[in-house]
Amino acid sequence: MMSQAHQTTSQHLDEASQQLLKLLEQADPEVSRHMAAEAQRQSNTLELIASENHVSSAVMHSMGSWLTNKYAEGYPGKRYYGGCEFHDQIENLARDRAKALFGCAHANVQPHSGASANIAAFMAMCKPGDRILSLPIKSGGHLSHGLKPNFSGTFYDIVDYDLDPETELLDYDEIRRIAIETKPRMIICGYSAYPRTIDFAAFRSIADEVGAVLMADIAHIAGLVAAGVHSSPFPHAHIVTTTTHKTLRGPRGGMILTDDEEIAKLVDRKVFPGSQGGPLMHVIAAKAIAFGEALDPSFETYARNVVTNAQAMATALVEKGYRLCSGGTDNHLVLVDLQPRDAELTGADAERWLEMAGIITNKNGIPNDPRPPMVTSGLRLGTAAVTTRGLDAGAMVEVVELLDRVMGSQGDESECQSVCESVRSICERFPL
Ligand SMILES: *Cc1c(COP(=O)(O)O)cnc(C)c1O
Repeated sequence: MMSQAHQTTSQHLDEASQQLLKLLEQADPEVSRHMAAEAQRQSNTLELIASENHVSSAVMHSMGSWLTNKYAEGYPGKRYYGGCEFHDQIENLARDRAKALFGCAHANVQPHSGASANIAAFMAMCKPGDRILSLPIKSGGHLSHGLKPNFSGTFYDIVDYDLDPETELLDYDEIRRIAIETKPRMIICGYSAYPRTIDFAAFRSIADEVGAVLMADIAHIAGLVAAGVHSSPFPHAHIVTTTTHKTLRGPRGGMILTDDEEIAKLVDRKVFPGSQGGPLMHVIAAKAIAFGEALDPSFETYARNVVTNAQAMATALVEKGYRLCSGGTDNHLVLVDLQPRDAELTGADAERWLEMAGIITNKNGIPNDPRPPMVTSGLRLGTAAVTTRGLDAGAMVEVVELLDRVMGSQGDESECQSVCESVRSICERFPL
């Protein structure tokens, strides 16, 4: 069935992309074949992975540019290599646009990824062995917030807070109680699978009460924050980390923001030379372009639609008998508990069956999930990528219909094939 999803030609692709494929066909037919198939896959399937998006052609192609050839270790005006004049200008544009977008005083745009941004942020704010209070991955946190095998769990003393077991919401009184009891050096808020608003002011008041630093990792919600659709971590968080490729719709990468002059100096030193070598200047150029796009008023419309679509999807799922963790969503994602729909159904089965039907998702643990992380009882669904391609609330209801048909058929091959055809027609109605 997946091969069927790939059958059309590259007719939807813009001219620059067609030229790229033509060039690759000559230069490296093997890689070219797989890359063309991936372009088709993205065009012909519905991307509901909450951490993914479709970048503009300008963002995509600026990453395949001259800037990949250059070493620019250091920062604008203070490089360890000659020939950086234009790189300085581009990095300054990226920094200035990031500051304008998030309303803060300092931006470091060099982190290669969200996890890399977090390594530098931890190094800037903590000494090895310092205590850090965070939400564990099993409850919606990120592995770089303290998972044992990660750098964070290896070099720091991690203490967990958890969601309220009844409401599945952040319980600020309980977080305060644990903070007072454990006296962490740093408290982390910001998550990978939390469908609700984060009260950054409440976190700051807890941090102040125990003399801790507040770090906000807004990797998932950065686009919503930039558009004013989610409240801002500023002026509450001392340090803010993010990815640039999720709701923010930029190139794959990371960034660190702060309002504090002293923290800014530490951050710059801990990114380079603390944890990275040469910056990916081609990606920084793409970040500048993406930030420019996010400063355009049309980005606010996109961000509002992302939330409207998530809420439409949530309502439709509940009508079909699914349970949503926390009961709904305020942001771009829903966390679906599959058990009320079908007690036997696992996240792993759901993900696999949906992929056969051209709907791309990821299994995800739900709070207190009885099943292991590679199986799970949940599915995380996000609306950023489908909103980018133009799906509206009505289309989201259609998508839930299709999703439910796949679940109801237990992944039956002919039913998945028939759903795949409907997915294809939605994709054609909303081309990339
Ligand atoms: C996605 C994510 C990251 C890590 O991003 P990578 O670019 O994959 O390293 C960090 N923190 C949170 C909360 C995330 O959701």
